[in-house]
Amino acid sequence: MVKTIIKNLAYFILSPFMVRRGRGDNICITFDDGPHPDNTARILEILAKHHTRVIFFMTGMEMEKYPHVVRNVIAAGHKVAYHGYTHQSMRKQTHAEFRHEMHKRRELEHQFNICLNLYRPPFGDLNLSGFIALVSNRCKIVMWSLDSRDSYDTEQQILKSLAANKIRRGEILLFHDDYTKTTNLLDCLLTDYKNAGIKCGVNL
Ligand SMILES: [Zn+2]
Repeated sequence: MVKTIIKNLAYFILSPFMVRRGRGDNICITFDDGPHPDNTARILEILAKHHTRVIFFMTGMEMEKYPHVVRNVIAAGHKVAYHGYTHQSMRKQTHAEFRHEMHKRRELEHQFNICLNLYRPPFGDLNLSGFIALVSNRCKIVMWSLDSRDSYDTEQQILKSLAANKIRRGEILLFHDDYTKTTNLLDCLLTDYKNAGIKCGVNL
């Protein structure tokens, strides 16, 4: 009980800098580790069909590999956010490596004319020095409240665990661009949410 109160108090104090749940009635759908040369385009088509905006937490190296995909995501009106340059855990990085990641972030902002002000640490790994550096670089850290487990589970398992009657408002859902099964189940999932009156947004 006391532990939960302290934990909730810590989240409240940190909320201007770090979020684990969205505000309001919407849920927020996020895709990590892209852009992917094939899957991201399919995801964009499904999102357009459902008039749904999401956040793509992209890794810098993949953004450099597939700039045309990044531009398509931006043109479709989605939010592009930063998921590190190399996707290395912050806990394994030296200060110099972390500084390089932030330097690459600025380069990518100029290249694509966007503001990468939202940051999701690879693997959700965060340490105190990284936290301070991110805040001083004006990054808001975005974690997630619900992992789709698309790295592990089957389409049917994911659809069942994320069904409209199981999720709460304000949920931040974590998916990945890498998996074909994620693109396959997305249409079905968004139809389920639409029928249940659940709206998706990107306001955090
Ligand atoms: Zn990742």
